[in-house]
Amino acid sequence: MIETKNWEDRISPAIKAVPPSGIRRFFDIAAEMDDVISLGVGEPDFVTPWSIRESCVYGLEQGYTSYTANRGLLELRQEICNLQKRSNNLDYDAKTDCLVTVGVSEALDIALRAILSPGDEVLIPEPCYVSYTACTTMAGGVPVPVPTKIENDFRVTPADLEPHVTEKTRAILIGYPNNPTGTILTRKEMEDLADFAVKHDLIVMSDEIYGDLTYGGEKHICFASLPGMQERTILFNGFSKAYAMTGWRIGYALANKAIISAMTKIHQYTMLCAPITAQIAAVEALRHGEKYMKKMVSEYDKRRRLIYEGLQKAGLSCFEPKGAFYIFPDIRSTGLTSEEFAEKLLMKEHVALVPGSAFGACGEGYVRCSYATSVANISEAIARIDHFVQHIKKN
Ligand code: PLP
Repeated sequence: MIETKNWEDRISPAIKAVPPSGIRRFFDIAAEMDDVISLGVGEPDFVTPWSIRESCVYGLEQGYTSYTANRGLLELRQEICNLQKRSNNLDYDAKTDCLVTVGVSEALDIALRAILSPGDEVLIPEPCYVSYTACTTMAGGVPVPVPTKIENDFRVTPADLEPHVTEKTRAILIGYPNNPTGTILTRKEMEDLADFAVKHDLIVMSDEIYGDLTYGGEKHICFASLPGMQERTILFNGFSKAYAMTGWRIGYALANKAIISAMTKIHQYTMLCAPITAQIAAVEALRHGEKYMKKMVSEYDKRRRLIYEGLQKAGLSCFEPKGAFYIFPDIRSTGLTSEEFAEKLLMKEHVALVPGSAFGACGEGYVRCSYATSVANISEAIARIDHFVQHIKKN
């Protein structure tokens, strides 16, 4: 008979060792409260543009309900490669160098599993998206956090990375524009990282899911487009953020054919393929969605300026985010830890945000606010944060 009392003992130690996401806990508390303004979620508040939704409805009407090729609809892969040619002058072969996945989430997971042997180390500049560390561990690798500094707006430099390199270092995993800081890198800073990757013969995993969301005339530079970098880069991108398509679960990876073949092996046995309905919608997004995406970007830009000024007026210093839809104010002047700040703000003022420590130890002293919410919500949230901060500073 199966002993059911100690289910915990039956969970793999490797999975037990992975901490739960520090983001979700606050959402669970917030979900039980009334009148909460959430600056917590990393997801567009827009609905997917109608023409994209319509293409999916039309596809269903025509009976497109089957599996697709493991790598994804060739039509979609071709559009992805066309986009890379148009935007970054990169030549990828749709048949061999592209894999359509269930979100960037899946692409990251299987890329790590494809390239890592047990004990291989991955350099992960922090603060960063919460999955990077967990997925590296679950792939049998060793995540090596590399703290970055506020003095440098949390940009990573070779000087930050160098002390962490060992003979087991295989890859560096970067995400710019950055979640949670909103930082982007200049061409020169990326070139320095490219030189570093060549020096240590590392694979560069570049998560560019926020690549289209940049502001104030700044442009994100695709890492693979740097001279000599296409061959050593696994480029990740997707539809969740730029096209407000989080629920569709569509992303992709572009890389040399050996890596894509290895990733496809894992994908075909675990996922088989991404949903056909979402792939059809993604084709439409790439063919006709840019104008809608640009409108959303200009709306985020308005909100970005509002929240940037508002937080500073409330006495929280922050650097100006240039990409994604997050801002990362410094809360150290309140004397609270970032967990305490987030928890007290939620309880007292009903504003949800995420403690910076959820994104790595060097995020302590900061909180992540998402401005993917309405101007009215942002204005009200700022008023409540202002009230909270003034009260704390007085007492
Ligand atoms: N990468 C980053 C940096 C993210 O912030 C997120 C989601 O928040 C993802 C990847 C996951 O994206 P997807 O919805 O494509 O799985």
